[in-house]
Amino acid sequence: MTRKYNFSAGPAMLPQVVLEQAQAELLDWEGTGQSVMEMSHRGKEFMSIAETAEADLRQVMKIPDNYKVLFLQGGATSQFAAIPLNLLRGNEGADYVNTGIWSTKAITEASRYCSVNVVSNSETTNYTSIQPYESWNTNSDAAYLHYTINETIAGVEFPWIPDTGDVPLVADMSSTILSRPVDVSKFGLIYAGAQKNIGPAGLTIVIVREDLIGDAMDITPTMLNYEVHAKNGSMYNTPSTYAWYLAGLVFKWLKDQGGLDYMETVNRRKAERLYNCIDNSDFYTNPVDKEYRSLMNVPFTLANSELNDKFLDAAAARNLIYLKGHKSVGGMRASIYNAMPEQGVIELVDMMQTFEAEFG
Ligand SMILES: *Cc1c(COP(=O)(O)O)cnc(C)c1O
Repeated sequence: MTRKYNFSAGPAMLPQVVLEQAQAELLDWEGTGQSVMEMSHRGKEFMSIAETAEADLRQVMKIPDNYKVLFLQGGATSQFAAIPLNLLRGNEGADYVNTGIWSTKAITEASRYCSVNVVSNSETTNYTSIQPYESWNTNSDAAYLHYTINETIAGVEFPWIPDTGDVPLVADMSSTILSRPVDVSKFGLIYAGAQKNIGPAGLTIVIVREDLIGDAMDITPTMLNYEVHAKNGSMYNTPSTYAWYLAGLVFKWLKDQGGLDYMETVNRRKAERLYNCIDNSDFYTNPVDKEYRSLMNVPFTLANSELNDKFLDAAAARNLIYLKGHKSVGGMRASIYNAMPEQGVIELVDMMQTFEAEFG
């Protein structure tokens, strides 16, 4: 068996040891004679899996006690609606930062429920940069300020956290959660679809400050109401049990690795190696402002786009897969989440240099 290096933006690679443990436990979890997939979500076995996963995530991210951690479904995309429905709390509008395609989707959905004030828009730079906080047109009456910490498609990431004072800060962390430490106490709400840096698709994590729960709009669907999920331990209905279990194995793996400080060190090393390869070449280009380059998603173009297919074939021949870029950006994109081993990046850089020497 050859495991390939998978550079997909999501669903993405999972740590091999996690998959091996899941495989070993597939038919019989801890001598219970059942697969986690077959367990009642209300039984004591699954309850212990669920509680351990939450405790480990709280430890890894240092989540303060006055935050609820919800294990939901519907993807980050459902949160685009859930956030205004729950967090407007009688206010007319909310502030949104537009740094790319995911921010735009969040804005479009929120506009159905409230008046959206776009405080900053980097579309004019083709989403290759982020405007300084001082230039943002914020509204002190906003119910919250929403931003996308890492734009997965253009590969643009905030290295700083906006200081919004009393206005709760809401962050889409889908493609950067767990890649480095963040101070959770600076946020009102953090959300992330699991399939990039947490576990398999089908699970969505919401970390929300308790005082923001309990004032949802009347029209809020029950399944989007944070109060309902918080009161029911994310088990108002059947949760995504197997994805929750796998996420728990990933949290344990992160602890074994040395936590998020260690992950950040490795992730910076991986990203630097790849950006150096791009910057030291006349053949590959990444257009993003250096200060705002993503640690997780590295888009790059070839000097001659007619070589794109040849590049993808050459990569596949070396077991480097899913490098094709998003259609809106073109070229290539290497997503290098936590589970991408350093060796995968080393092989990619070697392949890129060999390809450039031959065709560049
Ligand atoms: C992938 C992604 C989403 C959408 O996630 P789903 O779980 O597919 O709904 C939203 N925001 C960002 C930043 C993403 O990377």
